[in-house]
Amino acid sequence: HFQFTYSIDVDPPKKTARNPTDIVAIARSAFRSGKTKSVEFRRKQLQQLEKLVQENVPAFEDALKQDLGRPKQETLMFDTDYALFDIQKILHNLSAWCTPEKPSKPWVNALDSIQVNSDPYGVVLVIGAWNFPVNLLLVPTAGAIAAGNCVVMKPSEVASATSKLLEELVLKYLDKQCFHVYNGGVPETTELLQERFDYIFFTGSTQVGKIVHAAANKYLTPVTLELGGKSPVFLDDGVNMEIATRRILWGKCSNAGQVCIAPDYMLCTRETQAKFIAVAQMVLKEWYGSNVKDSPFYCRLISDKHYDRLTTFLKDKRNIAIGGQTDASQRFIEPTVLVNVSPNDPVMQEEIFGPILPIIVINNPQEAISFINAREKPLSLYVFTNDADTKELFLNNTLSGGVTINDTIMHFSVETLPFGGVGYSGMGGYHGKYSFDTFSHKKAILRRNLHKPLEKAISVRYPPYSETKEKL
Ligand code: NAD
Repeated sequence: HFQFTYSIDVDPPKKTARNPTDIVAIARSAFRSGKTKSVEFRRKQLQQLEKLVQENVPAFEDALKQDLGRPKQETLMFDTDYALFDIQKILHNLSAWCTPEKPSKPWVNALDSIQVNSDPYGVVLVIGAWNFPVNLLLVPTAGAIAAGNCVVMKPSEVASATSKLLEELVLKYLDKQCFHVYNGGVPETTELLQERFDYIFFTGSTQVGKIVHAAANKYLTPVTLELGGKSPVFLDDGVNMEIATRRILWGKCSNAGQVCIAPDYMLCTRETQAKFIAVAQMVLKEWYGSNVKDSPFYCRLISDKHYDRLTTFLKDKRNIAIGGQTDASQRFIEPTVLVNVSPNDPVMQEEIFGPILPIIVINNPQEAISFINAREKPLSLYVFTNDADTKELFLNNTLSGGVTINDTIMHFSVETLPFGGVGYSGMGGYHGKYSFDTFSHKKAILRRNLHKPLEKAISVRYPPYSETKEKL
């Protein structure tokens, strides 16, 4: 029988003793010492980061069990294994990425040499979200280290057991001058945002993203904002319903739907809706048994606030086709599918971020596209279809952070693809080389000599100007 332990008895992470001003000063002086410029230093720190994850997988599993009732496999898949994979890819490519690029040059620069250096920005702030607290803090941090920055990390206070652990481990494994964790809640993040950083990387809600963007504006600090929103699924008629349903439900049920790129709502015809419901009932039973609450493979919601917000979507029982069971004492919400939902229903007014899937009936792909385009640009779009023209129709007529065709979530796992949003779902991207590029300033360098032949060739630019010179 599933034993569920809660983070209720875990104290929120203590406010770290030092204040943000001191932390930033220490990090800045470490950056100015030049130690992070050395590729060997970066490699060593990345190896330490790899060890930090590798040697503490059971501790992360325990912490996430406390925070989210998370099954071990989901912690491996979405947090620790993912972070390790990204860190290892970065380590493998580090020397190549740090080598200055030599772009091709125009003939007028025949006597010059040109290059692009990837320079670190300086002191970077990484603010994480609670839903994948290891991945969302350490993967951007790996990119920042690879690019030669010092980092102040701010884990989410909401996943309190994991935040505490991250603070202990960063202190134990990484250079103490260059890398810092500052734990705390909204007041502490607000304090941090008053400091001057050279780059801010934020993962969280669109609403808080705007606060971060405004704070960054004070010093024109560049930002990456990894935000959320409502990621739609289009389910076409005639697809293999069993395969499509599994892939859609996996995206909605992993981490109990608390995934930034979880399918938020689904668009399909009335006939396909009926077929989906029949198969979904079968799949959920196969995965979680007849009583989901007893399953060890299903998470709980992160907080009472989150639970209360989600249960208001279930008050009107009329359109619950599957699920609907809740238990406040465990912060449990069963995977729930709502049918024939109206675009005006409360569940369609905000990102759901939980295990509730509303279905909106449309008549054809064009109607689905109009529906999507009438709303904010989503972080992800999922299109399930066998038809090549329908795929192109969606790709050419919608704008989203990313797209997976015939699956959900999986574009996130390809480290050679940039991950990020557009518009209200975010700005900028990361993962693999994109993380390295995000955290480096691309410095253009032109080197030329002071020899006479070059001087003669370029002297047409000097006054006095003349018509003859103009023609040259
Ligand atoms: P959140 O915006 O509430 O919090 C994120 C971080 O911001 C936390 O560290 C928190 O301490 C801080 N924060 C909260 N309120 C603040 C305020 N008023 N001023 C300053 N800082 C503040 O987000 P969350 O609840 O942790 O995460 C859920 C959201 O994050 C969802 O919208 C989800 O889609 C999004 N998300 C996006 C991605 C992505 O990669 N694009 C990944 C995970 C989650």
